[in-house]
Amino acid sequence: MPYSYDDQNIFAKILRGEIPCKKVAESTHCLAFHDIAPQAPQHVLVIPKGAYVTYDDFAQNASDAEIADFTRMLAKVCAQLGVCPTEGEGGYRLISNAGPDANQEVPHLHVHILAGTNIGPLTAKRT
Ligand code: 5GP
Repeated sequence: MPYSYDDQNIFAKILRGEIPCKKVAESTHCLAFHDIAPQAPQHVLVIPKGAYVTYDDFAQNASDAEIADFTRMLAKVCAQLGVCPTEGEGGYRLISNAGPDANQEVPHLHVHILAGTNIGPLTAKRT
């Protein structure tokens, strides 16, 4: 069953201001906020304001302006968190779960920024 956008998802409600979030940064096309259940000392979610379900949906269907803004927002938040290796800082991991095989919980595109400690192996081994 293909994913389609459901505007009742929790991040759509955050974008509409129906439920609160701990905002980190906002731009024309995106919002960044702290994950409610952090999996690392620093755990921020970056989402586009547009109705995109997954990264592939966004990359195929968003405008160049939305894609540029999203990419710059990831960099801005990493700089704000003080985790950019190019600045001699400790680093971070970006994760974007898409669909059932990745256990995507919220069907609105989001990139997790995980940082603040060694994040460990890339995935649990599934071979
Ligand atoms: P996914 O598994 O879809 O990649 O990740 C969804 C993330 O959204 C999870 O890390 C979860 O903790 C986070 N999350 C779920 N509900 C809320 C919420 O209401 N507020 C915030 N800030 N994060 C949420």
